Amino acid sequence: MIIDLGNLEGSLQFDFSVTADELDLGTGDFRLLSDAKAAGEVLKHIAQTDVVGTINADAEFDCTRCLSPVRQDFVVAFDVAYITEIPEAATAEIEPGDLDTDLLADESLDLKEVVREQILLNLPEQIFCKEDCRGLCQKCGANRNLINCICEEKEIDPRWSALKNLK
Ligand SMILES: [Zn+2]
Ligand SMILES: [Zn+2]
Repeated sequence: MIIDLGNLEGSLQFDFSVTADELDLGTGDFRLLSDAKAAGEVLKHIAQTDVVGTINADAEFDCTRCLSPVRQDFVVAFDVAYITEIPEAATAEIEPGDLDTDLLADESLDLKEVVREQILLNLPEQIFCKEDCRGLCQKCGANRNLINCICEEKEIDPRWSALKNLK
């Protein structure tokens, strides 16, 4: 999966799978349940190399509110440009931190690393097990989709008893 750009003429199609272990994503609230399948094309131009493709995986996320596992088809479509050396004239145009252009240290491009990077860049910020997930109780930590804990009622209780005392 390491492409030698120095010897690449024109373009190269790719279609491969990487296991979750190989990717070693190391994110606690996200797990790959299958291999990540990547397919696309490496296109070599004069000054830059484009990698265009899609990644498909069966993934499991933790619900942002209640932390229950949520299974989802995770699909990432990407289009990244890599440059091996910055031509003098172009230096001024390329801002450091330009999101769509990555600078390669040498002429080799590791597609597994591209897949790893694209998965991490495209992880959803929020995932909910259902639209109206009630989340965890702030007081006792109970999953409020499953248990109707009485923490909120307890909070109201003193006021009710105060009213009762007035009678
Ligand atoms: Zn939830
Ligand atoms: Zn509670």
